[in-house]
Amino acid sequence: QSQELSQARIDYHAALLALQEHGTRMVCTGKMHTDRICRFDYLCYCTEAEEFVFFHSNSSFMLPNLGPRRFQPALLDLSSVEDHNTQYFNFLELPAAALKFMPKPVFVPDVTLILNRFNPDNLMHVFHDDLLPIFYTMRQYSDLDDEARLVFMEGWGEGAHFDLYRLLSSKQPLLKEQLRNFGKLMCFTKSYVGLSKMTTWYQYGFVQPQGPKANILVSGNEIRQFASSLMEKLNITTRGGEESVAEEKDEYFVVFSRSINRLILNEAELILALVQEFQMRAVTVSLEEQNFPRIVKVISGASILVSMHGAQLVSSLFLPRGAIVVELFPYAVNPEQYTPYKTLASLPGMDLQYVAWRNMVEENSVAYPERPWEQGGIAHLDKEEQDHILTSKEVPRHLCCRNPEWLYRIYQDTIVDIPSLLEALRAIVKTRPNLKKAKPASTVHPGRVREPQCQTSVQATNEAKLTVSWQIPWNLKYLKVREVKYEVWIQEQGENTYMPYILPHQNYTFSENIKPFTTYLVWVRCIFNKNLLGPFADVLMCRT
Ligand code: UDP
Repeated sequence: QSQELSQARIDYHAALLALQEHGTRMVCTGKMHTDRICRFDYLCYCTEAEEFVFFHSNSSFMLPNLGPRRFQPALLDLSSVEDHNTQYFNFLELPAAALKFMPKPVFVPDVTLILNRFNPDNLMHVFHDDLLPIFYTMRQYSDLDDEARLVFMEGWGEGAHFDLYRLLSSKQPLLKEQLRNFGKLMCFTKSYVGLSKMTTWYQYGFVQPQGPKANILVSGNEIRQFASSLMEKLNITTRGGEESVAEEKDEYFVVFSRSINRLILNEAELILALVQEFQMRAVTVSLEEQNFPRIVKVISGASILVSMHGAQLVSSLFLPRGAIVVELFPYAVNPEQYTPYKTLASLPGMDLQYVAWRNMVEENSVAYPERPWEQGGIAHLDKEEQDHILTSKEVPRHLCCRNPEWLYRIYQDTIVDIPSLLEALRAIVKTRPNLKKAKPASTVHPGRVREPQCQTSVQATNEAKLTVSWQIPWNLKYLKVREVKYEVWIQEQGENTYMPYILPHQNYTFSENIKPFTTYLVWVRCIFNKNLLGPFADVLMCRT
């Protein structure tokens, strides 16, 4: 590794002079520590103290310059998990003059992205917290290209899925523990610190029970672009185009099984029943038996993915459009309260169908009270608490991460009741649009309608007319749109309610509910295909 960071690649003397003269320079985005990413010249890291160091000189700068607010609670989140107090980033400060008394710095010539992985042994966390945020943070800053260096500061070893992190750039990612190999003081010539949270869709329940994030900013398009990029790097080609006719004859479903815990106890029976029901081939995969590229390849051609609730289900982001995700929940676990995979499948433009099935029969469940607590054991609890858990019929809402009732229930094995599962599936398969052929739906929104106008006339003392007309949005003439409609809102001035109308043409004369000698405020907007809303044109003031 030391060779990889070969000091020959940069002019060491020049770099040292620049550091001594200019010190560290920092400019960040974001108003809060939770939405901040910072770019540094010459950010250093002292491996003995395990601290980042900002060197002040006459020409260094630090934006935002927060003073002590930098510690309230931190400059930024180093992982994509919002405001987690084990994931904060900050640095110590020193005058650049102190360099004279410090070990000779080793310079990292690569443009570096410094971050914390949140839980690199869990596949859901790997994709949701790390891979997607890293991928899109790299697209936010153009110098974080294929040559960029990733540095993981959370302090874990490589973890079970390190090969996936390797796909994100051509350089080997560095772990915190490896930094000491480079020397006592490392200085990153150019670096970015922190991760974009723009792509995350789930909060794990640290401050309120887990659930979808309040303001999801990612769509299926970005998830699928990421998935394609990863598949390209794994040399996986999706079947499509002319082959898709053959493909349809060879539909298959995938059972993603867990072989260590949370088992499906009648997996063979389940597979037979699904083969019969859907007249499809079955393929089983598990993280224990196939390598991940193989699993991605299989999933990317599947029509249905069936799995127990668990991190392996994040692999549904590789499913083709139109596929069905079937998530199985053990006894006493309410699917509505644990929705990371439902939320993923339901992102607009993911174009996946989702169905949850829950074991409602306690006898079909095998629990493991004697196991260690983190695998759902409850033997360490007092008798009363154990009894309470054993008789409870549903785990109440709870916070992450050590709720013993939750762990006890979620680590149960399950005999899947086949008739009830088939029933749930039939309902979905019936309504299933043949999306495998369909192209992704358009997401082009209308522009404003142009030249909105109103004309009024008074018919009688209690009768008036209001004619509103407008021109089509500018972008419409370049588009093929299945259905173009217009929405008009009419509000009598001073009232706080309005009447909405959906109209097919570019003008309309209103006479019902229109009073003489009254001022109306009128808003008009265009709608493509029922749900793509355009902006309202400037409000019209129309006096009858
Ligand atoms: N895992 C697996 N097979 C098993 C048990 C776990 O592949 O039998 C994987 C799982 O998909 C996840 C990791 O091991 O990536 C940790 O599993 P855990 O049960 O802790 O987390 P969960 O799946 O509930 O998120």
